[in-house]
Amino acid sequence: RYNFNPGPAALPLPVLVQAQEELVEHRKLGMSLMEMSHRSRYVEELNAETQQLLLRSLGLNKGYHVLFMGGGASSQFALIPLNFLLTKSAAAYALTGSFAEKAYSEACFIGNAQIAASSKDQQWRSIPSIRDYQLDPALAYLHLTTNNTIEGSRINELPDTKGIPLIADMTSDLLGRQLPLQTFAMIYAGAQKNLGPAGVTAVILREDMLKHASKQIPLIFRYETFVNNQSLFNTPPVHAIYMMNLVLKWAVQQGGVSTLEKQNAKKAQLVYQVIDGSEGFYQGIVDEADRSLMNITWRMASEELEQRFIAESEQHGFEGLAGHRSIGGLRASAYNAVPVEACEALAAFMKEFRRRNQ
Ligand code: PLP
Repeated sequence: RYNFNPGPAALPLPVLVQAQEELVEHRKLGMSLMEMSHRSRYVEELNAETQQLLLRSLGLNKGYHVLFMGGGASSQFALIPLNFLLTKSAAAYALTGSFAEKAYSEACFIGNAQIAASSKDQQWRSIPSIRDYQLDPALAYLHLTTNNTIEGSRINELPDTKGIPLIADMTSDLLGRQLPLQTFAMIYAGAQKNLGPAGVTAVILREDMLKHASKQIPLIFRYETFVNNQSLFNTPPVHAIYMMNLVLKWAVQQGGVSTLEKQNAKKAQLVYQVIDGSEGFYQGIVDEADRSLMNITWRMASEELEQRFIAESEQHGFEGLAGHRSIGGLRASAYNAVPVEACEALAAFMKEFRRRNQ
């Protein structure tokens, strides 16, 4: 089947095959990795190697910590303000979609969270212009969501924050596109799109950020605790980290982020072309300039037609094309592990469905 699920999402087939082969008896251990102590040398090495692989894959070298945490990207929505807003008077959020708004709402429980810019009144169909950002120089940080998974939009231009630390939720585009990552003081991503299965969240933290972090919060919520213990303060999600290790090695074999990005652009183009050439039969939800490469969203003339499209697509082997319940319509999520052939097949199906139903 063609897997267009928004997350947990498709995993590369060779990774699944290797994980299956090693599940019961890992070749280096003589037992399953899931039975191994996280204090064993092998797990410590796996953890350290995966951190380095992630940094290298992203083109980052010195000056960053990589943390592997539980709780999903949603926990970061709370941990970021706990660590960095408690010690300052305010932080700002760019509201570009519903996950961005969730991050902002969590921060409101903790301190003075401001809205730097918002496209909520346009139903998230566009990304606010960087010229519209309101930024007070004393802000603890500015929080962005670089790819809006539900709406299908992405940020293309980064604001000049004049030294205010930039923090980004890159859950649905990390490793899928190139961005000037050195600009960011912190990047985080739930693994379940481009990095691996659900269960681990990758956090990349610029070293100087710890200087500003609160020491008034419990140890388990402090980034400093994870840094000081190489993310082995408590039991980490070892299996998910192992899977991320395999996915990162697969990504290197594919040619790294620059190659994956080109492939993602080609995949998205195949579907957007059908939408744009359909004389309104398929209607893209997001302004063209702000479209995501990872999540392609569109609507059709009626909910009934959309339901028919979903039902037939399932019969034809397409999985996960229903839009998010909050906005309806259709969504094809074409993360790194989705092959070009899947998007070719989807484009062909969309053309054929239109011919039969217009
Ligand atoms: N942020 C973005 C951009 C997402 O796409 C998601 C999940 O899809 C989340 C946050 C929430 O992630 P989690 O379910 O890991 O908490």
